[in-house]
Amino acid sequence: MQDHCPICEGSGLRVVQQPDGHRFAQPCECRLLRRAARNLQQARIPRRYELCSLDSYETVHKSANESIKAALRTARRFADGFPIETEGKGLLFTGSSGLGKTHLSVSILKSLITDRGATGVFWEHKELLDNLRAIYSLRTAGAEDKLLKSVITCDLLVLDDLGDITPSDWSWDTTSYILNSRYNENRSTIITTNLANEPRAAASSSDPNDRFAEARRAVARETLGDRIGERMRSRLQEMCVVVEMQGEDFRQRVKRASFA
Ligand SMILES: [Zn+2]
Repeated sequence: MQDHCPICEGSGLRVVQQPDGHRFAQPCECRLLRRAARNLQQARIPRRYELCSLDSYETVHKSANESIKAALRTARRFADGFPIETEGKGLLFTGSSGLGKTHLSVSILKSLITDRGATGVFWEHKELLDNLRAIYSLRTAGAEDKLLKSVITCDLLVLDDLGDITPSDWSWDTTSYILNSRYNENRSTIITTNLANEPRAAASSSDPNDRFAEARRAVARETLGDRIGERMRSRLQEMCVVVEMQGEDFRQRVKRASFA
């Protein structure tokens, strides 16, 4: 590719002449394209989401309800305003599975990498922790630092399916460390979760004779507050604009339509 660039003839630089005759060199378009291609390759975007874009979201979900349309508008505003207007704030997409939360998140990530030269990476929450844990247990010197550093220092992190893990102190400490470090450095994180953005389910009764409190908690739908704890949930609300999505599973609907 480099050898065949007709503009810079492979040097990666092109000379620009200003109206006053002053000449200076700047990176050639081909170099920026190569860098974007490399960043995209390192972004770990899952194959099934490789072709996602904000425009294709509109096509797939065109008969969507208001919450889905609002989510798309917020995603576009975020991508357009990044990084000046977003100021390190991220997005927290909530809603049941199949509404396209991951589609929107990946689309933003891809567009910032290809159009803005940003760096970014996609991780399922569980997969990221599994990887970090495996590296810790092997005690590969420096390897966990390298992975952690890449996750903390990239311009945009997408953390998919937050809370879909086996809870432990280590998991939550590690997750908060990553999110706090990014936020403190003004770096946005986009998070998706199937759990409802609600406080801990109020099932504990103050009446010690209330034998049904436990049963009520058991049937209530688990909330984000239940899973990640109130402190972290409120911290997430500080770090992210919450985008609540409602509706039925689009993939299910498509399946029903095709096999009816
Ligand atoms: Zn060139």
